[in-house]
Amino acid sequence: MPTKAPVKLKKSLQKLRGMKDILPEDQKYWIYIRNKVEEIANVYSYGRIDMPILEDTSLFVRSVGKETDIVEKEMYTFEDRGGDSISLRPEGTAGVVRAYIEHGMLNRPQPVKLFYYGPFFRYDRPQAGRYRQFHQFGFEVIGENHPVVDAQLMMMSFNLYKELGLPVSLQVNSIGSVESREVYRKALLDYYRSRKNSLCEDCKKRMTKNTLRLLDCKEEDCKLLSQDAPQIIDYLDEDSNQHFVKVLEHLDSMEVPYVLNSRLVRGLDYYSGTVFEIWPDNTVEIEKTEEKNELVKTEEKKDDKKEEENIESDHEDKKAKPGSQSALGGGGRYNQLVEALGGQETPAMGFACGVERLVIELKNRDIKVPGEQKPDLFVAQLGDEARKKSLKLFEDLRLLGFKIAENFSKDGLKNQMEQANKKYAKYTIIIGQKEILDGTILIRDMENGIQETVDFDKIIPELQKRLEKYGVKEKNEKKEKKL
Ligand code: AMP
Repeated sequence: MPTKAPVKLKKSLQKLRGMKDILPEDQKYWIYIRNKVEEIANVYSYGRIDMPILEDTSLFVRSVGKETDIVEKEMYTFEDRGGDSISLRPEGTAGVVRAYIEHGMLNRPQPVKLFYYGPFFRYDRPQAGRYRQFHQFGFEVIGENHPVVDAQLMMMSFNLYKELGLPVSLQVNSIGSVESREVYRKALLDYYRSRKNSLCEDCKKRMTKNTLRLLDCKEEDCKLLSQDAPQIIDYLDEDSNQHFVKVLEHLDSMEVPYVLNSRLVRGLDYYSGTVFEIWPDNTVEIEKTEEKNELVKTEEKKDDKKEEENIESDHEDKKAKPGSQSALGGGGRYNQLVEALGGQETPAMGFACGVERLVIELKNRDIKVPGEQKPDLFVAQLGDEARKKSLKLFEDLRLLGFKIAENFSKDGLKNQMEQANKKYAKYTIIIGQKEILDGTILIRDMENGIQETVDFDKIIPELQKRLEKYGVKEKNEKKEKKL
């Protein structure tokens, strides 16, 4: 007898390395962050801007810098079908500045304040908190050089983290003007030349290409060497110095705590003057937030726990300890960038924050965020006629503002009741064959299991009355007025 050839299973496809799916159970963190960012942007009058994800490669070469890691090694660059070199955006500031120039925003009242939120791409080695597609939001203030702008942007960023519930530290430095930085760069080179052999391979290359980055290498030997290196603060020109002193005065007067960090340089060419980063504050212990965080009502805790168990978070992220990624966000002045991209001389300052790292920090610190809203009602049905009637009822109730769950394709009542329970619906309304004949409907209180039959025509006022204790009536009345 001929033997059957084994069935070949098709290899299932997987997401690309360094990319991530954000599953429904994780969305609450993303919503929590996005709401806070939008709230802050609104309060401080930042207008949202969405730039294309693809831009001309030269935009990033001219702004981020030809010899930076991002442009040299990390950009997704390719030729389009027309033969032009285009790149997936690796960061946001370049695109914002291009848009500022292209749309003549110089003619609007200055400063122009913009914020963005979206995906960015860097072909980097994936590890905890580092992806090839990640999300950033950023704030840019274009057209003003006053030190109060620097201080307010730093305070705003710092407060954003604080209000999310994350302990962070604000690291501040000034890298001076282009001219003073050149003098400093030479001093740094002199210092490192005789110590070159102790540097890691990357830093040896950085010596000529991106000298200032020698200061923020994470290798132990390089870190040690950087401790005695000349400090940029001693090389600042008069203007940069005065500007920086005023920035710090404003921070002091607003009582924003900060750390002066002379090794903070940032990795992109366009920065000059004030630079800053937000780091997780590792000195603050992970607290059990049940008592601390008022966002969560006691009833939400139970199912949050369940949801957490189900969250498929990346293996690497699970390993990440709170604060294991150095920077949650960073920014600084870029007073030459508008001109470098073809605009007029225009001072500017910006800040960008990585969302994935925020999500990791929120989870690792066990910070509770508002969960998915529970439905007011579950609509259950039995039989074809009932299904038709419930389908219509669902729409009527939805338009009145009720939050309803259903599973119309299922027949069994038991199954539907289980789902209503799982979703923590407050009431289940049931239409079966008997109810169809009688013109009635059943209302089941899911808390105590008590069921009552009411006239189908009275269902809406009856539900409104019952849901009043949950604050639902007010919501419905507003909707009713609109209808
Ligand atoms: P940068 O534009 O390099 O200053 O980055 C600003 C912030 O974006 C960082 O502090 C991170 O929070 C985040 N970030 C940068 N690169 C990545 C990446 N590859 N994966 C995830 N987050 C990133």
